[in-house]
Amino acid sequence: MNMQEYIQEAEKVLLHTYNRYQIVLDRGEGVYLYDTDGIKYLDFASGIGVFALGYNNKEYSSALKAQIDRLLHTSNYYYNVPAISAAKKLTAASGMDRVFFTNSGAEAIEGALKAARKYAYLKDGGTDHEIIAMNHSFHGRTFGALSVTGTPKYREPFEPMIGNIRFADLNDMDSVRAQVTDKTCAILLEPVQGEGGIIPAEENFLKEVKALCEEKDILLILDEIQCGMGRTGYLYAWQRYGVKPDIMTTAKALGCGVPVGAFLMTEKVAGSSLSAGDHGTTYGGNPFVCTAVEKVLDLFEENHVVENVREVAPYLESCLDALKEKYGCILERRGVGLMQGLVFDGPVREIIDRALEEGLILINAGENVIRLLPPLTVSRANIDEMIDILESCLESGEE
Ligand SMILES: *Cc1c(COP(=O)(O)O)cnc(C)c1O
Repeated sequence: MNMQEYIQEAEKVLLHTYNRYQIVLDRGEGVYLYDTDGIKYLDFASGIGVFALGYNNKEYSSALKAQIDRLLHTSNYYYNVPAISAAKKLTAASGMDRVFFTNSGAEAIEGALKAARKYAYLKDGGTDHEIIAMNHSFHGRTFGALSVTGTPKYREPFEPMIGNIRFADLNDMDSVRAQVTDKTCAILLEPVQGEGGIIPAEENFLKEVKALCEEKDILLILDEIQCGMGRTGYLYAWQRYGVKPDIMTTAKALGCGVPVGAFLMTEKVAGSSLSAGDHGTTYGGNPFVCTAVEKVLDLFEENHVVENVREVAPYLESCLDALKEKYGCILERRGVGLMQGLVFDGPVREIIDRALEEGLILINAGENVIRLLPPLTVSRANIDEMIDILESCLESGEE
């Protein structure tokens, strides 16, 4: 079948929950993807920040292949070696004490919310605890995660949400304080908002939220699902500011392509929240996905992946800033490390479609923001190539 025929078949059988770009992807190599017609694309989206190591990393693939031949799944009624190794490495690298592996980011959020509510329940026996989340946040599509997602249009058709969620503004401490009551059990935020338009939390704001949490014994939950795993030049974005959460979620690049997420917590929370029977998952943390997590963390170290982010991100920023100076339609560049957004004066879908025709994969974050999430192994030459294509798209758009 050619690509158009595949797309027609797809639209007959897949539930239409996405307005997909009109390509069928077939294979990948490094920072490049190929469609079923053999056309090559430079990828600056990495599957929404998933393929941090780039495509077809041989060491990663061979580790997974070996595990397939050994054991794929056990259930959590038993222990398995890859989960033990992955948990040791992930807790050590993140500075957190205990981990629960999930199958997705949304499930990691669900677990984090449950842990926070149970912690508060054990403290005072109440069942009316409140959680403060941020406007423009995104935490996933399941009911709990949706309930704390700060974009009303995602929530509205599915109301009622879980109760006792309040929203505040990122980087506005007064708006956070205004939502605190004696029932507040947790404050949840993304250190860099992703879907909401690439909006970094300010260092001072993070520190003040942390201080407020400590003062009132409120748990700080940081959602590192998109901004974590090296993307900001630190393995986890909070490490940049030393603002350690009580509970942290991670996913996307954690498995670099296999479906795995996790929520982690400090011993303080672990010792007084979820216990046997409170939470579970059939697949979560199975030997297959944990082999991926372990290998990803090893390869991050061996290949100095986080160092590469620190090395190339300032170059990406300067190229994007130059683009902004040159084109009036770009209002702002914002972001941290290899998580960057270009804010335009109108919808960006047309630019992204044009880029795709020129062999560059980009995605948006909200209507007006082009979001750049390249593989973390990206080089300066790749950045030059991206800028050339993007610039030619902006020029042809101005004609
Ligand atoms: C993608 C994302 C999620 C949801 O993860 P899924 O794996 O799609 O369920 C949650 N939080 C943030 C910050 C994300 O970027």
